[in-house]
Amino acid sequence: MAARIIRKIVPVSRSGAAQYSSGVRKVTLIPGHGIGPEITVAVQKIFEAAKVPIEWDEVDVTAVRGPDGKMGIPQKAIDSVNANKIGLKGPLMTPIGKGYRSLNLALRKEFDLYANVRPCKSMEGIKTLYENVDVVTVRENTEGEYSGIEHEIVDGVVQSIKLITEEASMRVAEFAFVFAKENNRKKVTAVHKANIMRMSDGLFLRCCRDVANKYRDIKFEERYLDTVCLNMVQDPALFDVLVMPNLYGDIMSDLCSGLVGGLGLTPSGNIGKNGALFESVHGTAPDIAGKDLANPTALLLSAIMMLRHLKLHEHADRIQGAVYAVLREGKHLTGDLGGTGKCSEYTNAIISKF
Ligand code: NAD
Repeated sequence: MAARIIRKIVPVSRSGAAQYSSGVRKVTLIPGHGIGPEITVAVQKIFEAAKVPIEWDEVDVTAVRGPDGKMGIPQKAIDSVNANKIGLKGPLMTPIGKGYRSLNLALRKEFDLYANVRPCKSMEGIKTLYENVDVVTVRENTEGEYSGIEHEIVDGVVQSIKLITEEASMRVAEFAFVFAKENNRKKVTAVHKANIMRMSDGLFLRCCRDVANKYRDIKFEERYLDTVCLNMVQDPALFDVLVMPNLYGDIMSDLCSGLVGGLGLTPSGNIGKNGALFESVHGTAPDIAGKDLANPTALLLSAIMMLRHLKLHEHADRIQGAVYAVLREGKHLTGDLGGTGKCSEYTNAIISKF
């Protein structure tokens, strides 16, 4: 059964990027809400200064009411991602308990972006507990506790279903091992609670084991989520690539983000068979929106991940070098990093490195 499913999976490296020939790439741009538009402008300015061969196809994803009466993503945005197969996305506001689903979840479902990849690496100039963090969390992005299956049984009793399938578990495990192989990583850790969630996490774990058997050159280990949390803050060098179900990945990746300087520095990619959306891990930061105080690094590093996905490694290296140099110098750091720099000053400092 397992082998049958593995054959259906298109390896990560062969998704999206293969369709591009040389020349200008069209990329869907979703500025988003709150600080989204200002950090998006920062990325656009830096890309323009670095002469990156990208044409932005800007779309708004603010929810609209569809023909079925439900709120959802505007059709124009869906069409754009379907056509371009790749996008850069700012944060989106999620109204709490307002009767419609998170737009982020809707985007992931719409394009079946099944793997969420979040690299967390220590950077020179950013003072943190450890200087040697270099971990990548790979989070299953379509099911688990975030399947959206919730109902009230009787007044005062609600039930949320954690959905785990063999197909989704196999493909995210496959993604983690392919990622490890392609990025010269040595180990994949499956993070789980199969001791308690025997059936759901048990299935996820079995899928990880099945896939691990195909990649004997990459070390595989299994660890309980709580133990990983403990060990991660004690000695992050124990970990390399981690793969886990949706909710655990959401939480664990923020923990890892904290170890390298916070949400303002952490990029991510949502990868699917037919497309990929790159986005910063943080939210809309309504407390600082519109004040030129936001740190654009997370979105910029996400955009650099996107360039690597498009195989534009030279541009990625050049911009990454400029970002690291400005962080190392520490003169223009934004407030979240203990500095007094404005978003626009920091952006110009990066541009001055080209
Ligand atoms: P948040 O990440 O927006 O903010 C948390 C704190 O971090 C705030 O103090 C904020 O000022 C700071 N911060 C975040 N990003 C920063 C940056 N780039 N530079 C400087 N400081 C930064 O989290 P929240 O307040 O819990 O959420 C606000 C909204 O964002 C909610 O509607 C939430 O649903 C949404 N959200 C969206 C995404 C997404 O689109 N991927 C992710 C998380 C939260």
